Amino acid sequence: MSSIRVGMGYDVHAFVDGRVLVLGGVEFPFPKGLAGHSDADVLVHALMDAILSAMRVGDIGELFPDTDSSFAGASSIGLLRIVASRMAAEGWTLVDADCVLVLEAPMISPHRDAMRSTVAGALGVDIEFVGIKATTTEGLGAMGRGEGIAAYAVVLLERVVA
Ligand code: MG
Repeated sequence: MSSIRVGMGYDVHAFVDGRVLVLGGVEFPFPKGLAGHSDADVLVHALMDAILSAMRVGDIGELFPDTDSSFAGASSIGLLRIVASRMAAEGWTLVDADCVLVLEAPMISPHRDAMRSTVAGALGVDIEFVGIKATTTEGLGAMGRGEGIAAYAVVLLERVVA
């Protein structure tokens, strides 16, 4: 018998000057980065929350608290590897993951496969099991004004139970 779970994650980070923009573990050539305690990789944060939620073990705020200085400037892809190890240790397999970025700029499509490959590598799965796409809000709201980036992620996990 197997146990199947879904998890959903959501995150938002604001743009700031003077930081490198990292999305899905890939550095983007862009004049601004995202504010945050770690590298502020909003896509990977949403994805980690989706995985931890499907495992019913809390969220990244509990696992990697921003009061802990050891996570200052941390690579979120490195944190995703830790989440993937925990997933494996508890017997979970990632069946599929899909992510949506909400932003006005930069253009995601030229970097999509690099992001998918980097995320899939951290999760130890084939690239075909990681979907990433982007949308705008047609100029509406904070994302529409280009003030930051939001990300949604859903995952399906499976665990074989005796
Ligand atoms: Mg975050």
